[in-house]
Amino acid sequence: MKKVKTIAEVYEGFKNLAWKKSESEILARERLEICIGCDHLQRYRGFYLGCDMCGCYIPAKIRSIKSSCPIGEWKGFTKEEYKKKHDKSNTDNRS
Ligand code: SF4
Repeated sequence: MKKVKTIAEVYEGFKNLAWKKSESEILARERLEICIGCDHLQRYRGFYLGCDMCGCYIPAKIRSIKSSCPIGEWKGFTKEEYKKKHDKSNTDNRS
């Protein structure tokens, strides 16, 4: 189980939450679908809060490209991996 998160991951997640970009929102939606089905997601009155495995605030964590799920349900990406994934999705959507 990965509990270590870097300042860079936390900063990136909150930055992408405050200033939403279409690429990170697509990834966030994919990750949130997985988290919604997970027993470790803490909810309060319809809002998604933290993950009880890693202690992260989920709305920010799912927007941190580098972050990964502590139980391996979704993975993090390096900048290069993420660029390839994003470019591929754009190509798939155009065809
Ligand atoms: S990050 Fe992983 S463990 Fe936490 S709520 Fe999402 S799927 Fe579950």
